[in-house]
Amino acid sequence: MNIIMFGPPGAGKGTQSHLLEERWGLKQLATGDILRKVADEDSDFGRKIKEIMSSGQFVSDELMVEMIGNKIDELDSNRGFILDGFPRTEKQAEALDIMLLKKDKKIDFVFEIKVDEKILVERITGRYFCASCNTNYHTIFNKPKVSGVCDNCGATDFKTRSDDTVDVIKKRLKAYHDLTMPILPYYRNKNLLVSVDGMANVNEVTKEIESYLSKEGLTYKAVSV
Ligand code: AMP
Repeated sequence: MNIIMFGPPGAGKGTQSHLLEERWGLKQLATGDILRKVADEDSDFGRKIKEIMSSGQFVSDELMVEMIGNKIDELDSNRGFILDGFPRTEKQAEALDIMLLKKDKKIDFVFEIKVDEKILVERITGRYFCASCNTNYHTIFNKPKVSGVCDNCGATDFKTRSDDTVDVIKKRLKAYHDLTMPILPYYRNKNLLVSVDGMANVNEVTKEIESYLSKEGLTYKAVSV
C-alpha cells in the first residue's frame, strides 16, 4: 500500500502521515524533513538548499525525484510508504509514475487534505517542534501536556521552522496554487484521488483516511491517536 498525502502547507499532511506510519507500519517519506537535514549540513550544497527553502521556493525536480527514488530503494521491498510533500509539480508526478513502474510499484491512494486557506497562516505560524525528537506541537491547538516539556521524550528544547514566517508562508501558498494544485486532475483521472475534510480535528481526519485503508486489508496496529 503506497499513499500520497496532498494539501497546502499547514493542512496536516505531516501529522496524518506520522500517525499512519505508527498505526499501519507504512514508512513516512517527508521530502521537507529530508531536505531540512540536508540544509543543516555545513556544506555549500546544504547552504544552497537552506536558501531555497527559506525563500519559499521549490528545490529542482531532478534532485527531488532522485532523492525520493533513493529513499524508496532503501525500504524493505514489501513495506508501503506515504509520500508527504512529494510530488509537488507535474514533472515530479510524471517522473514518479515512470520510476514506480520500473520498481514494479504503484500508488494506491492520493489523499487531498482540504483546509480553508484563511486558517492556514494561523496554523503554520503557531507550530513548533521538539529539538530532540522532532515531535510537533502548536501554541494553540496542540500544546505539550506539561508546558515546555516534550510529551514524547521529555526534552525541554523546542524549535520553529525558518520558513514558517508570514512572508514565506504566503510564497509557499502561492507555489502550492501555481505548481502543485495542477497535479490534482492527473490523479483524479486515474481514480486515485480522495478528498478529506482537513478542518475536522486530527482524530477525525485520521478516521476518514483509515476508512479507505481498511478496505485494503492492511494489518492495523492498535496505537492510540
Ligand atoms: P514541507 O516541509 O513539505 O513544507 O517542505 C518545505 C520546503 O522544502 C518547501 O517549501 C520546498 O522549498 C522544499 N520541498 C519539499 N518538498 C519538495 C518537493 N517535492 N519539490 C520541491 N521542493 C520541495
